[in-house]
Amino acid sequence: MKQINPRLLDILACPKCKGELQLTEEGDGLICEHCGLLYEIRDGIPVMLIDEARPLSEYRHGKKAAENGASE
Ligand SMILES: [Zn+2]
Repeated sequence: MKQINPRLLDILACPKCKGELQLTEEGDGLICEHCGLLYEIRDGIPVMLIDEARPLSEYRHGKKAAENGASE
């Protein structure tokens, strides 16, 4: 399993607001609470592009739906 280097986290900042980022529980993305964006980590490399970022609400909603195994 590829883990992101914790030291890398220290130097990474949100490209939009330059704010601090938080690693997701699964370690599959970096969250900026300020912007409400999630930057995906692909193959251990964070994709620090605003264009590639996903809305945090969408990420959490998608996860919740998966947990419930629910579909409409
Ligand atoms: Zn931000």
